[in-house]
Amino acid sequence: MNLNLSNTFDNALPSDPNTENYRRKVFKATHSYVTPKVPSDPKLIHASTEMIKAIGLDTKAIKTQDFIDIFSGSKIQPNTKPYAMAYAGHQFGNWAGQLGDGRAINLFEVAHQGKRWALQLKGAGETPYSRQGDGFAVLRSSIREYLCSEAMFHLGVPTTRALSLILSGDEVLRDMLYNGNAEYEKGAIVCRVAPSFIRFGNFDLFAARNDLKNLKRLTDYTIKYFYPHLGNPSQATYIQFFNDVAARTLEMIIHWQRVGFVHGVMNTDNMSILGLTIDYGPYGWLERFDFGWTPNTTDKQNKRYRYGNQPNIGLWNLLQLANALYPLVEDAEPFEAALNTYKEDFDVKSLNMMRSKLGLHVQNKNDYELINQLENCLTLHEVDMTIFFRLLSHYKQDNPQLGLEIVKDAFYKFETIKDHILKQWTVWFNFYDKRLQVEHLTDQERQDQMNMVNPKYVLRNYMAQLAIDDANKGSYKLIDELFQLLKRPYNEQPKHSKWFAKRPEWARHKVGCSMLSCSS
Ligand code: AMP
Ligand code: MG
Repeated sequence: MNLNLSNTFDNALPSDPNTENYRRKVFKATHSYVTPKVPSDPKLIHASTEMIKAIGLDTKAIKTQDFIDIFSGSKIQPNTKPYAMAYAGHQFGNWAGQLGDGRAINLFEVAHQGKRWALQLKGAGETPYSRQGDGFAVLRSSIREYLCSEAMFHLGVPTTRALSLILSGDEVLRDMLYNGNAEYEKGAIVCRVAPSFIRFGNFDLFAARNDLKNLKRLTDYTIKYFYPHLGNPSQATYIQFFNDVAARTLEMIIHWQRVGFVHGVMNTDNMSILGLTIDYGPYGWLERFDFGWTPNTTDKQNKRYRYGNQPNIGLWNLLQLANALYPLVEDAEPFEAALNTYKEDFDVKSLNMMRSKLGLHVQNKNDYELINQLENCLTLHEVDMTIFFRLLSHYKQDNPQLGLEIVKDAFYKFETIKDHILKQWTVWFNFYDKRLQVEHLTDQERQDQMNMVNPKYVLRNYMAQLAIDDANKGSYKLIDELFQLLKRPYNEQPKHSKWFAKRPEWARHKVGCSMLSCSS
């Protein structure tokens, strides 16, 4: 396969001298060389033509045996040495020690059109970091990762990408709900793509072991290739690096809040140093607007990673990264200042994001109150977040009495809006109408602008589940339909309007639709 290989990570950084594949603690190394397991009967389910072009291949490559061979892990591209990365992490607020790529194997890096891409197989077999796991991934979680990473990209959310989804032909044993009912499921391999897969956890690992030499090497490498504008390594550069990571992390989380995405497992090993959404596991999309919602049943008790807590967790994770980078600077103050900036920027950016969702451009001192009141109203009743904001764009100025009627279809039980709830909504629409008078846009202009930030289509949990159910029966049509639909999430796409609908009742308590676990 004709690719412009450009391996920087394994050239620049220390590898594990032990090349045998057994589970162990790995010291003084950023990665261990490991060969993917050859799957029994790999079959291509789907490939992203956009990513194929991005890495410099012709779309005809999809049809070749080489494509399946390389991206299923059956064959190693000449002059490359696949490897698993070493990292640690704080999981659910607790230090978890060494983790590492337990089922992800980096194939190589490619440089094309001024961009660098690392390609990584998820579910390609065990590595020295597999701990108790088998190194595989099941079809259901692979479909979820494949579809969601591309959907997020098209929503404008920073994310890792996906190149291909391949059935392995092997069976994988999983206890989906951790309740003692393990079953065999189809295995799959996703090739995911990002400039780099380095996580906060890669820094955590060296810092925890007081391996400052490699902490510095890793940081210098990251800056050189991914934050080159910061210049040569120095204490000031490291501080600016931390500031930039914090800003990118915040930017990503504000986007999550805008589109109603809940990551579900924001452990520090799942935080990209590039501020990309990474590791699509038990994530979910808000259907009902609810700050307290998490899709992850593993997190049911504390709801640490609930929708409304994501910005705080971003801050908590950045604090752990600050602790990891501290030895390179030996001054806590600039880190504290950066964390304070995150908090201040969050307030400003979150307000601006909500303004944009409401079609407001001018800044007005009452906006915080307007948004606060709306969020209160939204939590009084079961309201679909995506549909609500999309329909709100139809609002016609000077008609507050018609406001609720316009967003009617977003409510699960519209007919029960009465008394004080009705009053609160009426008050809010009057407030909104008055506020719009300060703006200079026509109704149509406001609608056009709102439709660029409020998606019409997102990968609702039940939609992914329908695609999974079909795929388990051997039909991949729905995967393609959703893939194509979600390439244009802000467009009307009337022929797909059945996906612009509230979650059906059957999906309310169904596994995979409202309940997801880390088992994948
Ligand atoms: P996650 O919660 O999916 O981000 O995974 C946390 C850690 O567990 C990472 O080190 C993963 O590589 C590892 N892991 C998850 N699933 C498996 C698996 N099936 N086999 C080996 N390692 C796994
Ligand atoms: Mg992970």
